[in-house]
Amino acid sequence: MPFAYYDRLSETNKRIYRRSDAVTEIPLPDAERLRPVIPLLREALAREERRAIEAAAQILCRGVAELTGARAPQVQVLAVRPELRFGELHGLYTVDSGRIQVWMRTLRHRRVVAFRTFLRTLLHELTHHLDYALLKLSDSFHTEGFFKRESSLFRQLVPETDDESTRKSRRVSIRAGGGLRHDESKDARPRRRGRTQGGRA
Ligand SMILES: [Zn+2]
Repeated sequence: MPFAYYDRLSETNKRIYRRSDAVTEIPLPDAERLRPVIPLLREALAREERRAIEAAAQILCRGVAELTGARAPQVQVLAVRPELRFGELHGLYTVDSGRIQVWMRTLRHRRVVAFRTFLRTLLHELTHHLDYALLKLSDSFHTEGFFKRESSLFRQLVPETDDESTRKSRRVSIRAGGGLRHDESKDARPRRRGRTQGGRA
């Protein structure tokens, strides 16, 4: 069952959506090689050290890309989440530059984001990257398959934990600044709010 916005897509984008929906996993051969990065990321977040968080996030995302044979994304960790009309921005993927941006502090209290939320956001943006760089899709839609791929990365990298936490997150795609971007914020559900637009800018 596709999300409700499927009906509003062009035929071309429906084809992209269906291709995205059909892939439910990103297999990571030797995922265990990357698992030592997870505690480094957790500890860096606990210490609130932006550079160390960014370094660990880069190693993780580049490592995943390498294991799949995709080109590496750029990864930036920034300080306080920007404000949006309906919440705050958690993460952003910019297609043209292959850049993942994630924010380490909440807007309201300037607190460091919970580890699992941070990791899920990072892997969510990485899944956008892999849609283009690995699956060779010309757009990256939030489909059931997309969320399953995101979860498959999480499970392989953090095998012992469940993956409840980001189900509540809102996923929106916006077009801004001359390139297609995928941004993540909270407080709504993908099937209601998903404003995913097709094609490159
Ligand atoms: Zn997204």
